[in-house]
Amino acid sequence: MNSAGPETDVVIAGAGLVGACLAALLGRSGLRVVLVEERPGKPATDDRPDPPSPARVSTFTPAVRRLLENLHIWQELETDAVAAVTAMHIEDADGGGRLRFDAAEAGASALGYVMENRVVAEALHRTIGALETVELRTGVPVRGVRVDTDQVRVELGDGGELSTRLLVAADGAASPLRERLGIRSRGWSYQQTAIVASIEVAADHRGIAWQRFLADGPLALLPLADGNMSIVWSAGTEHARRLLEKNEQEFDTALNEALGENGRRLFGTARCVGPRAGFALAYQQAREYTRPRVALVGDAAHRIHPLAGQGANLGLVDAAALAQVVGEAIASGRDIGSTGVLRRYARWRKADGLPMIGAVDLLQRSFRVQLPGFDALRALGMRTVDAVAPLKNVLARRAMGLSGEMPVAMRPPGI
Ligand SMILES: Cc1cc2nc3c(=O)[nH]c(=O)nc-3n(C[C@H](O)[C@H](O)[C@H](O)COP(=O)(O)OP(=O)(O)OC[C@H]3O[C@@H](n4cnc5c(N)ncnc54)[C@H](O)[C@@H]3O)c2cc1C
Repeated sequence: MNSAGPETDVVIAGAGLVGACLAALLGRSGLRVVLVEERPGKPATDDRPDPPSPARVSTFTPAVRRLLENLHIWQELETDAVAAVTAMHIEDADGGGRLRFDAAEAGASALGYVMENRVVAEALHRTIGALETVELRTGVPVRGVRVDTDQVRVELGDGGELSTRLLVAADGAASPLRERLGIRSRGWSYQQTAIVASIEVAADHRGIAWQRFLADGPLALLPLADGNMSIVWSAGTEHARRLLEKNEQEFDTALNEALGENGRRLFGTARCVGPRAGFALAYQQAREYTRPRVALVGDAAHRIHPLAGQGANLGLVDAAALAQVVGEAIASGRDIGSTGVLRRYARWRKADGLPMIGAVDLLQRSFRVQLPGFDALRALGMRTVDAVAPLKNVLARRAMGLSGEMPVAMRPPGI
């Protein structure tokens, strides 16, 4: 170990979308970064294990598009890998409420972009691979950690050790690092499983993202660039288990029924193509986002219901915000792991992210309330929002990642 100080500036545990993006941002600014990933092989291709699993896709906000543009990633994505979301339709199966957002009405070319997580991860890893400042170690978990006054010692699963000024936990919702540091989190299971699969629809999806709130959870259809759609069907644990066990024909019947009249009118008959997989859903919120010399980003800090398609987006904002705070600290000659510097990151992300996280949780609960008359009230609320343009615009801008304190790397030009 070097007596002049820690051997590296930042160690990031976890090379998922958020950890990889942070490594690219920090490495590009000249910091020495070690990105440690416990899964072996190329992280970008790890979501296609044996047996085959459905492609994981996410809706990314226009703000994330700008971040990817800044990293020169967006420009290199194949156009047939990206589906622009031109409209979003939300409806309530019980109360008949509905809400529609339209990109043109919001003055945008798209409300978001649907891409396979793998495509974005691969692009991020190509960027990292071209940076001499970033070292990627795969197949090695972070095992232990000791925080000293002027550095963190990080113990690796292969017996190695690293010393760093700043350690970032980007190790996902279960975050072994968060546990090891004794950072408590609060949360609960939604008692729901999200079924993910690709489907073929008879009609042209025209870029419409659609979500129908059913009695035990929402069914979302996201447009894909190849004309197919990806479903995220959140259902009560037992119901989801039964759906996953159905054969293809039985599943298609249940799916077409769940689409309801409006869904079938919009998209025509749907047919599942390829495998299905289930993901248990939970809410989780770390009580602290930082400790001296340590920061939490992405799902390690917060895990939310996928109904608003915001989990990865929030994590990528964390990455951009932390990279900005660290960059500003360096410019003013401050220690990047100091409490003062990290506190700015924690305050920023809590002030900005918590309202969205709370709103998503509240929304998911409101659709499960079974009080007499509540569904009519909820439908009235949805119709009211739908009719009041300024209110609708505020919601659309939030969902597009265009409100709150945006990191510089995500802001539209000139702001
Ligand atoms: C069904 C579903 C649909 C979703 N849809 C959307 C959507 O449309 N839009 C959206 O924005 N979000 C969506 N999300 C949420 C999104 O997938 C997550 O928020 C996001 O993937 C979290 O990324 P992450 O990098 O923080 O964590 P992860 O992707 O979990 O990555 C963590 C990484 O850390 C590694 N790791 C773990 N422990 C260690 C260790 N000890 N040492 C080293 N490495 C370690 C893991 O191997 C992993 O690679 C969805 C989620 C679900 C379940």
